[in-house]
Parts: sequence; C-alpha cells; structure tokens
Amino acid sequence: MAFEGLTERLQNAMRKLRGKGKVSESDLRETMREIRLALLEADVNFTVVKDFVKQVRDRAMGADVLEGLNPAQQIVKIVDEELTKTMGDEAVPLNKSAKIPTIIMMVGLQGAGKTTTAGKLALKLKNEENARPLMIAGDVYRPAAIDQLVQVAAGIDVPVFQLGTDVDPVEIVRQGLAQAEKDHNDYVIIDTAGRLQIDEQLMDELANIKELAHPDEILLTVDAMTGQNAVATAEGFNGKLDVTGVVLTKLDGDTRGGAALSIRSVTGKPIKFIGQGEKMTDLDVFHPDRMASRILG
Ligand code: GDP
Repeated sequence: MAFEGLTERLQNAMRKLRGKGKVSESDLRETMREIRLALLEADVNFTVVKDFVKQVRDRAMGADVLEGLNPAQQIVKIVDEELTKTMGDEAVPLNKSAKIPTIIMMVGLQGAGKTTTAGKLALKLKNEENARPLMIAGDVYRPAAIDQLVQVAAGIDVPVFQLGTDVDPVEIVRQGLAQAEKDHNDYVIIDTAGRLQIDEQLMDELANIKELAHPDEILLTVDAMTGQNAVATAEGFNGKLDVTGVVLTKLDGDTRGGAALSIRSVTGKPIKFIGQGEKMTDLDVFHPDRMASRILG
C-alpha cells in the first residue's frame, strides 16, 4: 500500500504526544526528530524535509500551541496543513485554450505511464466534458509504442493520428494538428517518445515539438515508485521544457511518498493528476489536502 511506512511512522511520532497533558519543548523536539527521519526514510528530498520540519516547529512554538488546549491535536493539525502546503495547497486544473483545440503534450521517461495516462486523460475528457479528443502518435522509435497507443485509443473509442515510424515526429505533429483543425477536435493529446533516461537528443526533439505545437499543457508523467529519481527526472524535463504540470503514476503501488511530497517544492510545478491503477478510469485530479490526509492515515 502507498505510504504505508510513512503513515505508520508519522502516527507513531505523534501518538507519543497524545498521551501527555502538556507538551514540553523537548517532547516537541523529539517528535520533530522522528517526523524528520520518517520523511527522509520515505525518500523525501532533504531540503523539503528541512523546510517542512522548520515550518512545523516554528508554528508549534510560535502560536502558544504547547501552552494551549490539546497541544497534540494542534500539532497533528499543523503537520496536516504543512503537508498540504508542501504539495501545493490547491488542486490545479488542466490548462485550457480559449479556442479549440486545447493541445496537451505528454512527456516522460519510458515506462513511467505516459501512453496509458494519455488514454486515461482522453477518456476523462470524454466522460466529463463530452469532449472529442484526437491523439497523435509521436513516438516513432518503438513500433510497439504506436501499436500500444492505437490499442489504448480503440478501447476508449478515440481517434489516433499516426504516420508510422518513418516520418519525423515534428512533421507527424504538424499534420496531426491540421487533421484536428479539420475535424474540429476540442483536444489534441500528443504522445511523445520516452527513453530509459534523459538524453539530449530526446530533449531537443521534444523542444522542437513544443515549438511547433505551442501546447497549452505539457504534462510530465513520472513514476511515483521511483522516489527521488522521479524528482530528478522532473527537474530534468522541467529545465528543458518548462512543463506545466506533473502526473504522478502508480500511486496504487507501495510507493514511499518521496515523489508526491517533493516534486512541487523542488520543481515549482503542480502535480495535476495521479494514476492509481492500470485501468483507463484510474486517473484522478490531485488534491493536496486529500493526499495529506491519506499520508497521515
Ligand atoms: P510509457 O512508456 O511511459 O508510455 O508507459 P506505459 O503507458 O506503457 O506504462 C508502463 C506500464 O505502467 C504499463 O504496464 C501500464 O499499465 C503501467 N501503468 C501506468 N500507469 C499506472 C498506474 O497508475 N498504476 C499502475 N499500477 N500501473 C500503471
């Protein structure tokens, strides 16, 4: 289960306070030490942990929390609020274009769940907005990638624009956008190539697609199971492409929590959606407050 270890350790750290009628500064110091260790062990970025702990400690010390009624309960509330803040406070909606089509470019490393997420998003838009998306198959390096997108699209009854693997991806996107214009699609979702790791050629190609397509949204798909690597990946993609949002996948797995808690603070970019399974309906809007509650258990 996701966050299992983190939840347990945070609960334990704070449970110790609950037995006490009054919380001393040294009790608080001990709790903060345990919270810090719990976060580090969950693979949360070191600077994020440091800032988080400082923030909680300052608030607990500052507002006479220790002297007041139910100090333990108040500290739980502060931790909850600061977790929420660390993840961005509010849900951030998908960027939309004033005139159709809204263009969404999917980027990410191979295996992160980009193609699956493209399909999930298309289905979500169809179901919730009655939208008519077109998907563009821009990953020309793996023939299987196009087949996979075609299969995903067929399952949700969404058209795919593809020109096989012998055409330059920028040209595919150009023609795909022309097709969308002709067919009055309200969304275009561009699936792009991924690699096992970030390389310059991939980034240049994505930058060229971005320059041509002027996407309203560049959604970076990262695998929550990869912890700090997900954060490094996000920094790499964001540095080159200035992404507009992140999709965190595989939160149905036993991820420790590092990616969810670090990405917003480290990159400044919001997590917009979370993937919670392999089915096409397993995509949800990311709500920082709900995630904080889930982490606290
Ligand atoms: P891509 O290479 O980035 O396009 O990745 P794919 O879309 O092919 O996904 C890689 C694998 O991860 C596939 O087996 C997907 O079914 C799986 N996957 C994607 N998103 C999720 C998710 O949210 N949860 C789980 N459990 N599996 C996922």
